[in-house]
Amino acid sequence: MFNLGIDLGGTNTAAGIISASGEVLYKYKEKTDTRSEESVIGSLAAAVRSLLNEAGADASEIGTLGVACPGTVDGERGIVEYSANLPLLGTNVARMLSEAVGVDISRIKTANDADAAALGEYRAGAGAGARDFLMITIGTGIGGGYISDGKILTGKNRAGGEFGHTVIVYDGEACGCGRRGCAERYCSAKALERMTKAKIAECEASGKKTVMPELAAAEGKVSARTAFRAADAGDGAAKEVLDSYIAYLSCALTNYINIFQPEVLAIGGGICNEGERLLAPLRERVYAEMYNKRQSPERYTRICCAELGGGAGAIGAAML
Ligand SMILES: [Zn+2]
Repeated sequence: MFNLGIDLGGTNTAAGIISASGEVLYKYKEKTDTRSEESVIGSLAAAVRSLLNEAGADASEIGTLGVACPGTVDGERGIVEYSANLPLLGTNVARMLSEAVGVDISRIKTANDADAAALGEYRAGAGAGARDFLMITIGTGIGGGYISDGKILTGKNRAGGEFGHTVIVYDGEACGCGRRGCAERYCSAKALERMTKAKIAECEASGKKTVMPELAAAEGKVSARTAFRAADAGDGAAKEVLDSYIAYLSCALTNYINIFQPEVLAIGGGICNEGERLLAPLRERVYAEMYNKRQSPERYTRICCAELGGGAGAIGAAML
């Protein structure tokens, strides 16, 4: 028996056969066919068939078949209630996938993708050994998952854990969710890009020197990396961008720590490539702001980067 996890994304379907300790034994990645509900289930089935074929195994040998999906997922019934990036609305993913690949429905588990990624990190990555674990994923948006004692906490309607849509600037920037000033508008990779572009425009208008336009041109565009690379080169304007980005991010993370007091808070997403450049100033600010700052530092929440990279969702799904 083995477990198979699928991370169903709006762009790619990533999957793997995962050992009990979270090791990826076989890997799969293809574009998701997002034309219809049936085609999305087809993408899931293709991942299962391809992995079984590669492993020379049979569907009856699958212990758990886990599917991580963006959106509101009813894990008890195997239904994706709503997904912004996929044509799934009240879709019984567990039943449709069971019929497509011949795996008993009792073995098919579903969860929100951020929750699955958090579970993967909790079991086999940055959160291994912790009781209370919080993972925040920084990408186009801000995702998050909180796990306590092995349980993913999602609240009523499984709609909790929307860390990106908590307000850090009252009446601030308009967010896609309808509120203003959400953490997502200031702490996502997209927000860092926006701040970088604004600083470049400000420098152009005032005649202040910066290497950011040069670096962006060499890369083809302004990205979340631009300010980090420019700051490495001693660029003052880039340091201002990062100071302000890290101030917003530390505000959001301090809020989360004050509410949950996790043992470990792991940050996931491409921004983790910056490692200590991101973490060191972030820790400094969070540890100075958080409510329990007067406790001895060994009792502080450990702030670190996620360890499983893009594979966390599939690994967590296999462990549902
Ligand atoms: Zn929002």
